[in-house]
Amino acid sequence: MQNNLVVNDVTGLNPVTVWAINKPQSVEDVVEAIRRFDGPVSVGGGHFSMGGQTASPNSLHLDMRSMNKVLLFSPVDKTIRVQAGIRWCDIQRFVDPHDLSVKIMQTYANFTVGGSLSVNVHGRYMGLGPVILSVRWFKLVMADGSVHECTPTQNTELFYAVIGSYGGLGVIVEVELQLADNVKVKRLAMKMSARDYIEHFKAKVRHSKDAIFHNADLYPPDYERARSVTWVRTEEAVTEPRRLHRGGAGYALERYFVWAVTETPLGKWRREYLIDPLLYASRKVHWRNFEASYDVAELEPASRKRTTYVLQEYFVPVERFDEFVPKMAEVLKRHRVNALNVSVRHAQADPGSVMAWARGETFAFVLYYKQRTRDSAKNRVAVWTRELIDAAVSCGGTYYLPYQPHATEEQFHAAYPRAKELFALKRRLDPGFRFRNVLWDKYYAPTLATPT
Ligand SMILES: Cc1cc2nc3c(=O)[nH]c(=O)nc-3n(C[C@H](O)[C@H](O)[C@H](O)COP(=O)(O)OP(=O)(O)OC[C@H]3O[C@@H](n4cnc5c(N)ncnc54)[C@H](O)[C@@H]3O)c2cc1C
Repeated sequence: MQNNLVVNDVTGLNPVTVWAINKPQSVEDVVEAIRRFDGPVSVGGGHFSMGGQTASPNSLHLDMRSMNKVLLFSPVDKTIRVQAGIRWCDIQRFVDPHDLSVKIMQTYANFTVGGSLSVNVHGRYMGLGPVILSVRWFKLVMADGSVHECTPTQNTELFYAVIGSYGGLGVIVEVELQLADNVKVKRLAMKMSARDYIEHFKAKVRHSKDAIFHNADLYPPDYERARSVTWVRTEEAVTEPRRLHRGGAGYALERYFVWAVTETPLGKWRREYLIDPLLYASRKVHWRNFEASYDVAELEPASRKRTTYVLQEYFVPVERFDEFVPKMAEVLKRHRVNALNVSVRHAQADPGSVMAWARGETFAFVLYYKQRTRDSAKNRVAVWTRELIDAAVSCGGTYYLPYQPHATEEQFHAAYPRAKELFALKRRLDPGFRFRNVLWDKYYAPTLATPT
């Protein structure tokens, strides 16, 4: 148990005082914690979600980070079974000597496997999409302390409901994942008008058998130009001998760029016309694991007291890219959002999770911006966030849930039409509303007043 009982996230914007913090080390510890305490329970992995998704007031908080062991590994089948509190970077260190990689994960490697499944994350991978596509099996502890094993063909209702359910149905304690080969990848980068991007994507990237990673950066402040960056499989010699990022401190230059783009006059212009052309001028060949092991420390500002960096994400069907970009740009410009970047990624359709954000082939728009921490600033952000959600929904899309929960209830249900199914399942499996966090408190708790 821990004395400091405030659970917060990386932005510092969401402090929540909990009743106690427990750090389980095994499935048995989780079962015992849930059975011995009969009140509300919240679950946290890396605590990188940005809107209170890891905590609820007066809950028993299960901090999963001590459940970080590899349980089984088969280099022949390219599979790994792990405890759910392990981070991607720990798995990378384990599998790299076997020339294997995590198949699907985020751009940075600090996140836990359990936190990633609960959000159903994605990365910059081509031909893949939500992380559920790489999940072979997981073990879940439910509200009554019972333990269940789920695969895409066994306990399927739970499999497709738990992934993407933000810890609302139980604690994911162990996971088996499919791995991929740690191939060498070569960077191909090209700047173009944002209007030309979709044709470029369809002609050069969408069906490329060699594309491993892809993203396109839309340049603020006008979002009219894009830089497409694709990493393709290659047999050429690496230009970067390291197989993995070392992690931790030592990112002074990267942090300076982040600061300069958002704080200096002409910062955004200098990034587009001076810094990026230099960064992309050289030939780069990396190991896939190197390109997948960035550390969030490179983004961390000196202080988050008065201002903080925050993420948001919107998802739009591939065919509606050209419709969404001007709508998004108009909102961001009108509200003078201090955006650092909008990174566009691609995802194949989700195979059936209830809270799927990729209901077909999808583009993800990842917005990284800076905001003040005072209440008036938070309220202003809420206003333009709701406008962006409307823009995404009007294009047949949705928004991402691990960030600040500014969406109204109506927007939430418009963006996640199957949420009511998940709510019905929660009523059945967690009748005492034990598993909670800010997201469940905001959108689910009010529905409890209505009889089923
Ligand atoms: C710098 C940065 C970059 C990011 N990049 C990406 C990206 O490229 N792609 C992307 O998809 N997302 C991205 N995200 C969002 C990130 O993937 C999610 O916030 C993810 O949940 C973080 O993992 P975590 O271990 O910190 O989870 P946490 O924030 O700790 O938890 C997230 C949710 O999962 C639940 N949870 C955690 N562990 C368990 C468990 N074992 N069992 C049940 N429920 C659990 C929590 O209750 C919470 O609701 C980024 C976030 C940051 C800060």
